[in-house]
Amino acid sequence: MEEYDIIIIGAGPAGLTAGIYAGREGLKSLIIEKGVKGGHANTAPVILNYPGFKSIPGLELLNKIGEQAEKYIEIRENEELQDIKKTDNKFFLTTNQSEYSAKVIIFSSGTTYRKLGVKGEDEFIGKGISYCSICDGMLFKDRDVIVVGGGNSAVTHALHLNDIGVNVKIIHRRGELRAQQYLKDKIKDEGIPIIWNTVLTEIKGDMFLKSVRIHNNETGVDEELNVNGIFISVGEEPNSQIANKLEVKIDSNRYIIVDKDQKTNINGVFAAGDVTGGVNQLVVACGEGATAAVNAYNYVKMIE
Ligand code: NAP
Repeated sequence: MEEYDIIIIGAGPAGLTAGIYAGREGLKSLIIEKGVKGGHANTAPVILNYPGFKSIPGLELLNKIGEQAEKYIEIRENEELQDIKKTDNKFFLTTNQSEYSAKVIIFSSGTTYRKLGVKGEDEFIGKGISYCSICDGMLFKDRDVIVVGGGNSAVTHALHLNDIGVNVKIIHRRGELRAQQYLKDKIKDEGIPIIWNTVLTEIKGDMFLKSVRIHNNETGVDEELNVNGIFISVGEEPNSQIANKLEVKIDSNRYIIVDKDQKTNINGVFAAGDVTGGVNQLVVACGEGATAAVNAYNYVKMIE
């Protein structure tokens, strides 16, 4: 059993920043990450609102934050937390690689892409359906693609796909985008077509995706649209399941409930970043990570 003061679950912007603070405070700390460091933000084509960088690809920014974190804290990638228990003032963790104890846990476990839940979605993932334009966009150069969704992510993916020469349209279930105004303006400037008030009802193909059935919510008309690719960008679901094992309180959308110190209802458990909901901005996740780590330090000193 490896013993730590602080174990941070997830190496996205919140977890990495918490790691920078925890490591610098001189506590024995570790980050466990089920994938690779950076998290979802790695897949952002471009970030235009992180202070200090006018424009920077998500991967580049997160690599910088990751490198800085690694100066102070060990990050174990491809290691997934499978179980967690609390006894008195100690947490016991089991991952797919090892067993640990810790005095404090910081959940910065982020979110998972929400699925559309229509017929054919599971079948054509990786055969025309993607959730990440940075990862897969170039495969569709000069081909016809739709982005589903009307939020910041959908619009950012559509702009990136357009930039790299993909023939892209947006399909959105309402008559207005949810995305921020500067992104709406950019979509208009670039002339990216939007199919309004429309939902996908079926995704079809053989070896690869070939077409989609779409339904207009206003006119009631159903049509078939030939497409080579679909980028699904309809929001995210919090990765809060494992926190349930500690009876950490979550809200009706399963986001972890925290106070302004990033404390949860369980002593010694903090949470930061997208898993706590809110505005889901990178700079906020970093701020929450820092707040969690500072208060985690105070907690460790208090129980020692
Ligand atoms: P989001 O803001 O929740 O938007 C999801 C979009 O998908 C909405 O337009 C929603 O439609 C649509 N949608 C949801 N379920 C659907 C369904 N079953 N069928 C069809 N459409 C569906 O999610 P996001 O764009 O992934 O962003 C997640 C968070 O990260 C947000 O807080 C966002 O602000 C943040 N973010 C920020 C930036 C930035 O600051 N530049 C960039 C990316 C993400 P309705 O509009 O009708 O609800």
